[in-house]
Amino acid sequence: MYRRQKCYLPSMLDPDRLLGATLERWLTHPEAPGSIEAADIYRHFHRYGSHRAVAAGERTIEDIAEEDGTRKFLLRHADGCETESVIMPIEGRSGRVRQTLCLSSQIGCAMGCTFCQTANMGRVRNLTTAEIVAQWHHAEHDLHAEITNIVFMGMGEPMDNLDSVLAAIEILTDHNAAAVPPSRIGVSTVGHVEGIRRFTEFMQRDGMHQVRLAVSVNAPNDAIRGELMPITRAVSMKALHEAMSEWIAAGGRPVLIEYVLIPGVNDDPAGAEELAQWLDALPCRLNVIPYNPKVDSPWPAPDEDCVEQFIEAAATAGLTVNRRQTRGRQVMAACGQLGGV
Ligand code: SF4
Repeated sequence: MYRRQKCYLPSMLDPDRLLGATLERWLTHPEAPGSIEAADIYRHFHRYGSHRAVAAGERTIEDIAEEDGTRKFLLRHADGCETESVIMPIEGRSGRVRQTLCLSSQIGCAMGCTFCQTANMGRVRNLTTAEIVAQWHHAEHDLHAEITNIVFMGMGEPMDNLDSVLAAIEILTDHNAAAVPPSRIGVSTVGHVEGIRRFTEFMQRDGMHQVRLAVSVNAPNDAIRGELMPITRAVSMKALHEAMSEWIAAGGRPVLIEYVLIPGVNDDPAGAEELAQWLDALPCRLNVIPYNPKVDSPWPAPDEDCVEQFIEAAATAGLTVNRRQTRGRQVMAACGQLGGV
């Protein structure tokens, strides 16, 4: 049973450069000889009240809010690179509002998905574990958002930076640190099968069985997927299905299948039937995300009829379907829009 505790990751900017560099090294390489576990570091600094140690370098913050309650914030790191993160208030079926934090794992991204703003940046660099945790710390302690859920769906492909992402999850779930239950943490991938396999091993560790896997599929077949996602040339949907099946066989929770619905590209209701056939009996939930136009987008956002028809076709084909609420579109904070401030 997780008990939520208010703990404080040391503030990011520290005049004590040596202490900061040491913490940074430990957080980035928790397995390094002579170091202690990243979570222990977090505990140690909390216990000794060092609110001035460096975890992620200098920060300069921009905080942009939209009327629907979505907040996008920017952190500037020591080398001048910036991350974008989003806090989304989402009302559940019970009426309770969850505060979901969407974390970035990289500056930019190498995956080149054609519908995504971040892809225009290319991959600049991976974030360190400390820089990932710093996003949570800023949301929780500076913006005073009571974060209940975390998704790795911001800038970057988390499976391309899995060492840092997994170490961050250990800190974020630590009882004496952020204490976010693993069941409320999800990692999304474009279909990096080796990454899915490593994440499957991670999920089988004590206490981590409830972490969630999301896969950005966005098409009913390789031909359409290839137009949207270059990774399809290296990883077919067949290979992707195998990796997801291994996740389920190892005890993973149903996979969240993400489907960015783009008018005229992947919105044919017949495609929903084909998608259902591809998924076969895989335990999963389909999350339909109405496309959020990037800057100079060749496609508009889908209209309501288009979204409703696709969802209905998917449900008729036997899929469990949710529609992602569109949030933060006006401030370029919606899914696929990060990096276009
Ligand atoms: S959708 Fe995700 S994986 Fe694809 S380019 Fe954008 S950030 Fe990268």
